[in-house]
Amino acid sequence: MDDFTLLPDESVVTRNDDVTYGNRSMFGNGSKGALILTSRRLVLLKKGMFGKVKDVSSFALSDIIISNGQPQVQARKRPFNPSMDVYFTGGEESFRFTWPEEAAEFAAAVISTITGQEVEVASGDDKFIENAAAAMEKINHIANKLRRTFGLQSTETMSADCPGCGASLTGTAGETVKCPYCGTYHTF
Ligand SMILES: [Zn+2]
Repeated sequence: MDDFTLLPDESVVTRNDDVTYGNRSMFGNGSKGALILTSRRLVLLKKGMFGKVKDVSSFALSDIIISNGQPQVQARKRPFNPSMDVYFTGGEESFRFTWPEEAAEFAAAVISTITGQEVEVASGDDKFIENAAAAMEKINHIANKLRRTFGLQSTETMSADCPGCGASLTGTAGETVKCPYCGTYHTF
């Protein structure tokens, strides 16, 4: 059971049952909770063991800082750490979500509730896709480095453009090849 009570003129706008909040430490990712947006406030149900609600925190929407007519609510659509950052007169609160889209949709809902205006949520966020692609590339690079370190050569043929002249080069993961045209070395 959620132990919080709606006020007579209060209604639930949206909720997300898988939110993380609080400081990350070397021991964990913060605490788990459910975040509820009502017509008046953000309610954080802090969950303890077995998902039982152990504490309820309330943040009034009227305490959110408005700057140039814009409520200071920001979705950060980082692929590995999507969050909604809210700036209250008393300080900043950050709620982390599983998916970037959830953070964006929740932030849009908070802003619409405050301003009474619909907020567009861009579906194909270019920046997000760009970041995800960069992250994938990095993982690939690390995987190749590991294969090299442990002598596990991949037999999969890869191709790349020569960094020196742009010619097409082929090789296997971890292999270093010399471009036959310009002599530049490239490691797959
Ligand atoms: Zn070349």
